[in-house]
Amino acid sequence: NQPKNHILVIFGASGDLTYRKLVPAVFDLFDQGLLPEKFAILGLGRTDLGDTAFRDKMKEGIKQFALNKPDSEEKLNSYLEKLHYFSFDTKDPDEYCLLKGKLRELDEAYETEGNFIYYLATPPSMYEIIPAQLDEQGLSDESTGFKRLIVEKPFGYDLKTAQKLNKSLLTNFKEEQIYRIDHYLGKETVQNLLVTRFSNGIFEPLWNRNYIHHVEITGAENIGVGNRGGYYEGSGAMRDMIQNHLLLLVGLVAMEPPALIDSTNIRNEIAKVFHSLRPIQEKEVAQYAIRGQYIASNIKGKQVKGYREEEGVATDSRTETFAAIKLFIDNWRWADVPFYIRSGKMLPTRVTEIVIHFKATPHHLFADDESICKNYNQLVIRIQPDEGVLMKFGMKVPGAGFKVQNVNMDFHYSDLSETYLPSAYERLLLDCMLGDSTLYHRGDAVEAAWKFVDPILNAWKNDNSIPVHGYPAGTWGPDVSDDLIEQDDITWRYPCKNLANDGN
Ligand code: NAP
Repeated sequence: NQPKNHILVIFGASGDLTYRKLVPAVFDLFDQGLLPEKFAILGLGRTDLGDTAFRDKMKEGIKQFALNKPDSEEKLNSYLEKLHYFSFDTKDPDEYCLLKGKLRELDEAYETEGNFIYYLATPPSMYEIIPAQLDEQGLSDESTGFKRLIVEKPFGYDLKTAQKLNKSLLTNFKEEQIYRIDHYLGKETVQNLLVTRFSNGIFEPLWNRNYIHHVEITGAENIGVGNRGGYYEGSGAMRDMIQNHLLLLVGLVAMEPPALIDSTNIRNEIAKVFHSLRPIQEKEVAQYAIRGQYIASNIKGKQVKGYREEEGVATDSRTETFAAIKLFIDNWRWADVPFYIRSGKMLPTRVTEIVIHFKATPHHLFADDESICKNYNQLVIRIQPDEGVLMKFGMKVPGAGFKVQNVNMDFHYSDLSETYLPSAYERLLLDCMLGDSTLYHRGDAVEAAWKFVDPILNAWKNDNSIPVHGYPAGTWGPDVSDDLIEQDDITWRYPCKNLANDGN
């Protein structure tokens, strides 16, 4: 299935995302023969680059970041020849007719039949201006070829701004033309969640409130904000990780089986989960959500700065670098099953995983300790690193008596060493080229996710009595986050980097 001939137009092509991710990912598609016969990239930015300087810069990016390292200069050059650059200020409406002229010229030269994909890799402040100006110039009109718009996160800053952005996008493009990209959805292991759940007869009958005790989702990073302190100050763990990536994982874990594996059906089911999230009222926030901020610490003999000492961060900042929530999904399948979600920076390891904790047996024949028995049956779905799936269960310790111990049964993607795992951007860009939006966010679901996190963010902003708990860099967040989960007589899992060594 080959995409139709088209031009990929990247706004913000002089930036980091284009250099590290987009152009290398398209090279990987080119290398595998997955691009259409007639294809070009038009990079746009204010920086005065020209075709040659742009190609030289992208050449470095490809050599460093493409998964398929170019095996010959000839092949690399034949890809680079498809790259063009046009210096242009997105803020200036007068310049869009120049862009239109440039696009017409390339469209004729490459015979791309008016098919354009616009990629917004600019600061979010441009996300309303660019589509509006494209529409003004008739460049969103699909009567002459497809016109698709890829929008990078953040999709708004809160519910109000997300609604405003959606409204503005939908004034100029139709929902079917809009592709809200989330690189989490491009990951194999995230897609594998659907396969694990819906192609294995053994899990689905157990996947409900009758057999699942609780669900835990962790998105941990072991680094701080680095030189992105200025950006992070306006974001925080709730906006940066939970509202989008981790709630999406909640959606995939909790959704009903879709009638068909297609964009409409899958996205309908995810949206239904978001609409069923039990609202956390502002006055309940202290009970259901915890926020924290890493403080200076010494990790393995190395002194590490606290968040408030990072460059671009206010010395009295209240931006959370750690957030944990306890949530419920009010529907038939999940009634009263707690979902514990946490994300943070400067935690002991980098890991994203989902843990399904199954209920203990109703009667404990072997274990003396009921709480040990509770931990036997866990299904761990590891999104990154060491992607894979691990099942934990109790086995008899050989010898006298009936002593039971926890053992692991595991699958690692790395075992499929022959299989090529595409990068998230490669997979998602190809899907957009093919017109498949299944792995992209839909506007209504984005708004529903904001609706859920908005009261938490409001309470944190307005109520100074809700503390920002300090946690030493290199630990699993503030101690009080344990209270969130331990009040139910269970504990967070403390995952290690390597799934196979997991003894928790
Ligand atoms: P960046 O390095 O700051 O690049 C932004 C680009 O926007 C620059 O090329 C800049 O080019 C261009 N730009 C800014 N104002 C412009 C204007 N008025 N007219 C024309 N171009 C303008 O940012 P980035 O890291 O590439 O990120 C781009 C977007 O993707 C952001 O919204 C970010 O949140 C999102 N994102 C990035 C990543 C990542 O890994 N980098 C991951 C997820 C999401 P000129 O200065 O040449 O104009």
